Amino acid sequence: MSTNRENNSLSAKVIYDLTTFTHVDYPDHLSCIVWFSGCNMRCDYCYNKDIVFAKDGKYSYDDILDFLKTRVGLLEAVVLSGGEATSHELLPFCREIKKLGFKIKLDTNGTNFSTIKELLDANLLDYVALDYKAPKDKFTQITHSNKFDEFSKTLDYLMETKTNFEARTTLHADLLNEEDINTIIKDLKERGYANTYYIQEFLDTGVNIGNLKSPKNKINKALLQNDLEIAFR
Ligand code: SF4
Repeated sequence: MSTNRENNSLSAKVIYDLTTFTHVDYPDHLSCIVWFSGCNMRCDYCYNKDIVFAKDGKYSYDDILDFLKTRVGLLEAVVLSGGEATSHELLPFCREIKKLGFKIKLDTNGTNFSTIKELLDANLLDYVALDYKAPKDKFTQITHSNKFDEFSKTLDYLMETKTNFEARTTLHADLLNEEDINTIIKDLKERGYANTYYIQEFLDTGVNIGNLKSPKNKINKALLQNDLEIAFR
């Protein structure tokens, strides 16, 4: 969101919430999760509706840095999530996190290429979880944004820089079918991706942006290409 990006002060209250401890979000790392307000997409299946529509948050960057100072030696990493963390100014914040000795994982939809490139070029990201929302022909329908090409640039740059990252897709089987998933697998393979491809099945929490219910369809896993290792979450 441009209004947030314009405000790069570390006192800006752009953080919706903080999870002070998790051992499941960043593989093999004890972490906290910083949930940034706002997102540049409106995915139908998104259950973080409150965060996506939030204009600001409970915490400033400085608040989080103060918290992190009390966790040196106790936590190993900071996960930047949301919403879409890259909708905000991240460079000064990440530099401060690094000074405290933490690793940084970024959860992203990949559509703010210049921000992600800036962070990668400054060597500030240790791990990236990149959402591969849908093949190009269904991207806008699912995300209500027209940003596949930006996403694609990010994916290429992650490959080019040999960044440690995972690609993942949220699957609602009424929105994506086996052919769509195979299109994604083929594309990842062609770009040289060799890590595990994660598929997160839609969870009906009762609240999501598109008011979706549990899917009527079901993916036939036997029809998925085995060119990549696939893990269902
Ligand atoms: S699921 Fe979509 S709308 Fe929700 S936070 Fe992620 S990118 Fe934004």
